[in-house]
Amino acid sequence: MSIRPLTLAIALTFAAGLPGCTREAPPADSAPTAAAPAGDTTADAVPAPAEIAAKVAAYAEVPLTADLSHLSEGDRQAIDYLLQAGRIVDALFRRQVYGDLDGLLSTIDDPATRRFVEINYGPWDILDDHRPFVAGVGPRPPGARFYPADMTKEEFAAADLPGKDSPYTIIARDEAGALVVVPYHVEFADELHQVAALLLKAADVASDPKFADYLRLRADALLSGDYQPSDMAWMDMKDSPIDVVIGPIESYQDQLYGLKTAFEAFVLVKDIEWSARLQRFAQHLPALQRGLPVEDRYKAEMPGTDADLNAYFALYYGGDANAGAKTIAINLPNDEEVQLAKGSRRLQLENTMRAKFDTILVPIADALIDPSQRGRITFDAFFENVMFHEVAHGLGIKNTLDGRGTVREALTDLTASYEEGKADILGLYMIGALGGMGELDADKLDDNYVTFLAGIFRSVRFGAGSAHGQANMVAFNFLHERGAFARNAASGTWRVDFAKMREAVDALSAKILTLQGDGDYEAARAFRDQYGKVPAALQADLDALAAREIPVDIVLRQD
Ligand SMILES: [Zn+2]
Repeated sequence: MSIRPLTLAIALTFAAGLPGCTREAPPADSAPTAAAPAGDTTADAVPAPAEIAAKVAAYAEVPLTADLSHLSEGDRQAIDYLLQAGRIVDALFRRQVYGDLDGLLSTIDDPATRRFVEINYGPWDILDDHRPFVAGVGPRPPGARFYPADMTKEEFAAADLPGKDSPYTIIARDEAGALVVVPYHVEFADELHQVAALLLKAADVASDPKFADYLRLRADALLSGDYQPSDMAWMDMKDSPIDVVIGPIESYQDQLYGLKTAFEAFVLVKDIEWSARLQRFAQHLPALQRGLPVEDRYKAEMPGTDADLNAYFALYYGGDANAGAKTIAINLPNDEEVQLAKGSRRLQLENTMRAKFDTILVPIADALIDPSQRGRITFDAFFENVMFHEVAHGLGIKNTLDGRGTVREALTDLTASYEEGKADILGLYMIGALGGMGELDADKLDDNYVTFLAGIFRSVRFGAGSAHGQANMVAFNFLHERGAFARNAASGTWRVDFAKMREAVDALSAKILTLQGDGDYEAARAFRDQYGKVPAALQADLDALAAREIPVDIVLRQD
């Protein structure tokens, strides 16, 4: 039997490329794009003011707070500098992606429309496929302001310009009209000098020397456009009680080529206690792998114990991070050379998760979970389910048993759906196993099952088309078929049968691990097709949720 090394760091890097548990956490909470009336394609057909007011109300407003009392004076001072830097980055992002947003706001009288422009950092509704909501603005340019508005794809392809594909340059025109490459550190020199100076000030007072190293290298990066040394230093930093993610990071705003990165900032305080718990759980990964409820040959790989997974309280979201839906997790760096050298880090944002739990999950559970079990909908269970989902990506099998290659290569387009489904179900398995080891409070395990069920309702309420949505439905239908929960037809609520749930979790774990290990694409597709659809009774319940006006996402009060 060959033991193949499998580190959690690699598993997390792998997860970074998957839908469902990375930055598309927002779509799970997003309103359907189908909300736009069919045939509504003219640029000037914008929603009526009442509809815009309803869209604003669909973002629950929550404060962003964290306990700083345990921090040193220096770290608190550093946070102050980092917040100032974050606000500059926020303004830079407005200019980068929209241009003169204040000028646009000054032309709008309706307060709800103004507020909606602020939430979206522009006149296009991010949760509704960028549908324009201000008359006369027209559709969003796919290339935002990263490229000249009149540039064609042919012109870009033909241009022989060093740096044109760089994530850290814009494409502009010179006085003669020819395309030129302008680095961010030139285009945004004023703002970036201010941000760099604040990072250096923070470095001088922060308690952790490695964090200070990172801040100094990040300041250099903002002024040089060479981000790799600072990404390396960020991965070398393990113990700082505070953190900041700042710079041009994700490329989703560039819908033309997906090349250019948008500026954003997160200012973060580490949850030391949860991070320590996670490290302790990681020690049990080899035992958890051996205990998987599947034949031995499907659990022969050995998981590593070097997870870089931590919990944080967010103090500030700026720029790209604050536009539209709010992410509950960060997976970085994106630089694949740094990932290969140092792995990657996942940051779960606990207070943002709590806000979504309170404003979205609890109202859904109030509608769809049997009243006798609503007391089992708890934030601790929700948070554990998410955290163990992440850890569970490191369990299981990465290479097919026939020795021909990876599960990813064998399952191709089904890979993400199976990997997310595996992480969900093995997360529940881990919770049960850790409860059995005395590592988790056994009395509360049933909370995790009920909260998991409510979490499925939340994830699929706008549709189950994404990889993780399909995985959710496979789990739902498979567990339901085995009696793990049942619907009360009179009340339209759902109730978990805990004994059957435990058995069904083991059965689904075995099924998914076996399909992955066999690498049998046809069997995997047949199983997905059999179980991946939203059943009519559940669809009716989800439709009934619409009348309750449950928020679709949150907007942060952080001034
Ligand atoms: Zn995942």
